[in-house]
Amino acid sequence: MRFADIGLSDELLKAVTEAGYDEPTPIQAAAIPQVQMMRDLIAIAQTGTGKTASFVLPMIDVLANGRARARMPRSLILEPTRELAAQVAENFEKYGKYHKLSMALLIGGVQMGDQVKALEKGVDVLIATPGRLMDLFERGKILLTGCEMLVIDEADRMLDMGFIPDIEHICTKLPTTRQTLLFSATMPPPIKKLADKFLSNPKYIEVARPATANTNIEQFLVNVTPMKKREVLRDLIRSEKASNAIIFCNRKTTVRELNTSLQRHGLRSGEIHGDIDQATRQKQLEAFKNGDIDFLVASDVAARGLDVKGVSHVFNFDAPWHPDDYVHRIGRTGRAGAKGKAFTFVTKADEEAIENIEKLIGNKIVRLGKVEAPAAEKDEKAPAKRGRKAAAPKEKAEKPVEAKAPRTEKPVAEKPVRVKSEPKPAPEAVVGDEGWNGPMPGFLSVGFGS
Ligand code: AMP
Repeated sequence: MRFADIGLSDELLKAVTEAGYDEPTPIQAAAIPQVQMMRDLIAIAQTGTGKTASFVLPMIDVLANGRARARMPRSLILEPTRELAAQVAENFEKYGKYHKLSMALLIGGVQMGDQVKALEKGVDVLIATPGRLMDLFERGKILLTGCEMLVIDEADRMLDMGFIPDIEHICTKLPTTRQTLLFSATMPPPIKKLADKFLSNPKYIEVARPATANTNIEQFLVNVTPMKKREVLRDLIRSEKASNAIIFCNRKTTVRELNTSLQRHGLRSGEIHGDIDQATRQKQLEAFKNGDIDFLVASDVAARGLDVKGVSHVFNFDAPWHPDDYVHRIGRTGRAGAKGKAFTFVTKADEEAIENIEKLIGNKIVRLGKVEAPAAEKDEKAPAKRGRKAAAPKEKAEKPVEAKAPRTEKPVAEKPVRVKSEPKPAPEAVVGDEGWNGPMPGFLSVGFGS
């Protein structure tokens, strides 16, 4: 199937062709016609499947007719993090360049004044994180009664971040006759409940998890002792001739220390994690996208869902604790048909995590290097004998805090309730006929027509 076969306008087809795409991905082929028919939709799909365009493209055509009124956005897209919201905005710019639609991005961590001005002019598309949206809503700056399309993206991530009550609240402020599209990588019970409550006779679409199904990513485990990790990483970067890579760590301090260490060794690297302010995070990301730096050391929270083209390698400097995070991490490479490699460092302490990952992806991962007696792990247990004080308690894992911003996002996001559900591998592409049964900081409002 080609894009031309799914009834998009000529302007959109031109923009899609210029973006370099001929064929819709499975989620796009399945979802776009449903959105065009104004159906509610539940789509089980992750980032990397092309899901963003599956709602952005038909939304542009649907919204092409009609005019925005002051403070009354015509459509609303809810995203769990600022980065994802910004990425969706980029998609609107890319595909909407031949339309005269206006858009506003409401995210925490940037000045509210310009966002309010944009809203007052009237916007066709409002992309927001729930906290900032609620804030402006409570201040009477937004009316949601004219909002005819609602997209709840990354619903399971919203759940992780404690946003579901906000979303429920927002849903009650929109007209009941609206069209609602819900995207989620998994369908834990609270998300199903949300769908049952706020969607009307939805079409159900499910596509395969990209990373587990993605044969473009070669995956390796690397046995290593904690003390040797940095050295092994530098060796791998050299031997792999890694042109660029995202390097994941489980803790913010590790991100910081590793970045400093890489820079000391002459590598062009940067870092992103939840403690870094939004403007700096965005700058680091841009530097990585532009090739000003080659290596981005990152935490899960900051890097989840990021869409950077041409990432040749992912290194898991720390094996992730949650198998789902593994899938998200390695999915940063091998995107849009390109080849990629993912190396995961494994210490003795990580064996259980690796077992869970292999269970989830349904495969044994190739293991490199022999299992060494872990010198550092021995050291950690030995200090008492040598009269040293017990090791300082380790820093806690980073919590998902992107939504946190100076009074803008709801405090609940600062103490997220991590409700993890074990995702089930999905079949290739399932469409249910009967519906559900079971420019960054500073870039705010853009008229993206030419
Ligand atoms: P997403 O799942 O929305 O994060 O998209 C993942 C990546 O796929 C992005 O880099 C998109 O630009 C790219 N993409 C979207 N649609 C297509 C398509 N039809 N063909 C190839 N790549 C696509």
